[in-house]
This record gives sequence, C-alpha cells and structure tokens, in this order.
Amino acid sequence: MATAIQVQNLAKMYRVYRNPAARLKEILTGNRRSHHQEFWALDGISFEVERGGVYGIIGPNGSGKSTLLEMIAGTLEPSRGRVITEGRIAALLALGAGFNPEFTGRENVYLNGEILGLSRAEMGRNFPQIERFAEIGEFMDRPVKTYSTGMYLRLAFSIAIHINPEILVVDEVLAVGDAIFVNRCIRKFEELRRQGVTVLLVTHDLGLVKLLCDRAMLLHRGRALAEGDPNDVVNRYNGLVLERQRVFEEGMPAPPAAEITSEVLEPLQYSYRHGDQQAVVMKVELFDAAGQRVRVFRSGEKLCVRVLVYFRQPHPHPVVGILIRTRIGMEVYGTNTELEDACPGPMERGEFCEVNFVFACRLVPQEYTLTIATQSPDGSSHDWLDDVLTFQVIAERRVAGIANLEAQVVSRKLSVHPPVPA
Ligand code: ADP
Ligand code: MG
Repeated sequence: MATAIQVQNLAKMYRVYRNPAARLKEILTGNRRSHHQEFWALDGISFEVERGGVYGIIGPNGSGKSTLLEMIAGTLEPSRGRVITEGRIAALLALGAGFNPEFTGRENVYLNGEILGLSRAEMGRNFPQIERFAEIGEFMDRPVKTYSTGMYLRLAFSIAIHINPEILVVDEVLAVGDAIFVNRCIRKFEELRRQGVTVLLVTHDLGLVKLLCDRAMLLHRGRALAEGDPNDVVNRYNGLVLERQRVFEEGMPAPPAAEITSEVLEPLQYSYRHGDQQAVVMKVELFDAAGQRVRVFRSGEKLCVRVLVYFRQPHPHPVVGILIRTRIGMEVYGTNTELEDACPGPMERGEFCEVNFVFACRLVPQEYTLTIATQSPDGSSHDWLDDVLTFQVIAERRVAGIANLEAQVVSRKLSVHPPVPA
C-alpha cells in the first residue's frame, strides 16, 4: 500500500511572550536578549497514513491537534522534523480561512480554485456540484460576510471535496454544522474513502472516530499517548478523561446534603466538557418504569433521565437540559427545565438540585448518547457534558429513520379495482 502522509519526528515550538512589550523589546534589541519562553506545542510526533486511509486525531483542547494539522496542510512551518505528502491536499482548518468576506460565495469558489491551482474552466465544471452539495440557495451570490457559520461550513466543505483532492484534512469544523449536513459529510467521507482519498480528521466525536477511522492517535500535551486501532485509542482517551475528572472532583467541596453523603459518586464520563463550573453536573442516571437502573430500553418504553446538579455559586434561575444524539452525532431530541416550565427555582451556594426527565422512548432500535447541561437562561454554560452515557434501544421490528411512530398498519386485497389510468 502506498503512503499518502508521512510525519517524521514532527515538533513545533511557539515563543510565548509575557506581554506585547516584551516581544517589541526583543525585536528592538535584535534578539540579543531573550524576553520569551519556549513552548513546545508538539513534540516528536511520527505516523503514517496509507493512501485511502481515514485517520482520526483526538485529544483534549490545547493538546496540539490544530498545530499538527496545519503543518501537514503546509500552512505552518515545523520547528523540527518533516511532513511528506503525496498528492493534492484540501484542508478545512479554521472556518472561513480561505474566504474573502467581501466576495460572494460564487466568487470565493473560483478564488479557492485559483489558490489550489485549478483552472477557471475546471472550476466551472465543478461548480454545479459544489453548489448542489453546499445547499445555500441564493446566498451563493451574496457576500460571504453575511453567512452564518453553518453556511461557511457548507460552502467550505463542498469546495474541499469537489476539487478532487487526494488528501482531505478536516479540523473539528464539523462541530458547527447542523445534524443533517454533518451526516451528509460523513457519508461523503465514506464515498471519498472508496475513491481512494486519504482523510485526516480531528474531532471530539469519539463515536465518529470508531465509525469512520481505520487508525487513530491520541494527543496529549503535544505528544502521542496512543496510536493505532481506533477502539483502543478511544478507550485510552476515555481513561484519560476519567482521570482528569477524578482530579477535578478532588478539588470539589464535600456534598453536604444528607441523602448524598451516604453514597460515593462515580466520576462522570464524557467526550467533551465545557462551562464555567458555577454549577456542576454530579450524577446522571437512567431508569426504567420499574425504577431499575438500566441502559437498554424497549422502543416506546418509559424512561427517566435523572440529573443531579451541585451549585458552587448561588443562581437565581438555573436551567438543566438533556440532549439525545445518535452515535454519529445527529440530534434526536432535547429539552430543558426552561422549555418545560419546570425550573428548580433560585439555588443557594452549596445546594443540590435533582431533575427528572420522564418520557416514552419512541426511538428506533440503535445506540444513542446522552448529553447533559446546566446553563443560564441566556444559554451560557455552567457545565456541559457531551455524551455522558450511551443507551441502547431495542425492538422486535426494525423501522427506518429515527423516530418510532408505531404506525398501525392494515392492508387488504381489493376484489374490485379502481380504474387504472392509461
Ligand atoms: P488543539 O487544536 O488540540 O486544541 P492547538 O494546536 O490549537 O491545540 O494548540 C496547542 C498548544 O499550542 C496550546 O497550548 C496553544 O495555546 C498553543 N498555541 C497554538 N498556537 C499558538 C501560537 N501561535 N503561539 C503560541 N502558542 C500557541
Ligand atoms: Mg484545535
């Protein structure tokens, strides 16, 4: 098998200045005196990606994923080591990076083609496909600065896949896409793989890594903690996350409520966590109608999601919400205490609140993930945990789609036919 990407002992050092004045001083003194610190954002990274392979890179924020991708895409110089790539690279790094905001979408398509070395005629042939996949309608002829982030993504992704790249590099941008578009992108990745395109993908969606990638790497503080089979690498990441959660919870004041001190809280798992931690999700549980803790539900069966939140700061009007997604990230159902008119009311510092979401699980049989958040009414997150747990829905009958609408279906043979149109 031919190699599409070879990364050899790659490293990147950033100079970190204490302040802008320090940087200026260093320039003015002609570097005779150093006013910076060296920071190795990436150190000693080596791996190969075979032609047609899909390679996933995961890791916490700041672990060096974007730095690595930029050096592979050729937009950032390595400090040490080297990258050898075979074939045309299309890169989706920062959103909107390749666009001129004053130009229309159409003009930007041609501009991108030019940058990538495609002729105008070639781009003209690709244009209808780019337009069809992007599905931004009349916005194609409006300045890109009027686009939403979702539209940016649609156009950028569509250009990237329709310029016949041999290597496609994608950095986390899919996170801003709506579920339907992201699903379409995922199907496209599969199609590209069949066509022999090599894909390098950074994502927080661990399910996606397991689903799409042949190999993966876990980056942590600029080093590769694990490399190889995606399942092993994802497990290693979950282990790391668990460890960080433990450290995080050790710094947390002991829960004062009587019914909680009697039990030891298990550390939560999640694929990604953010928020200012003024309120913290402590526990998430799933129950069936009999009050049993279960992770497998019959389609249509009643289900209860119980969330326990601890308030480190007083809060006049906290909002607690849930979001169900499929393993590939498609949003299926979400609600919160604000929408349901079920707010716990003002909370004092050191208090706990429990929220129960009870609903009939009318989903088609497959695996789902549960995301939990506690927020302010303005939408800012105190604690948001993606994919805290997974659950399985089973059913005797398979149906298509996501929602199980439990149709009653009756059919009969007709003895008298209505007239058949000629
Ligand atoms: P990730 O994409 O995994 O979140 P990045 O590659 O963006 O990580 O960043 C890795 C580390 O390098 C971070 O600590 C970040 O703050 C630092 N870093 C990134 N770009 C620069 C820069 N231009 N100057 C200094 N430090 C940087
Ligand atoms: Mg990044």
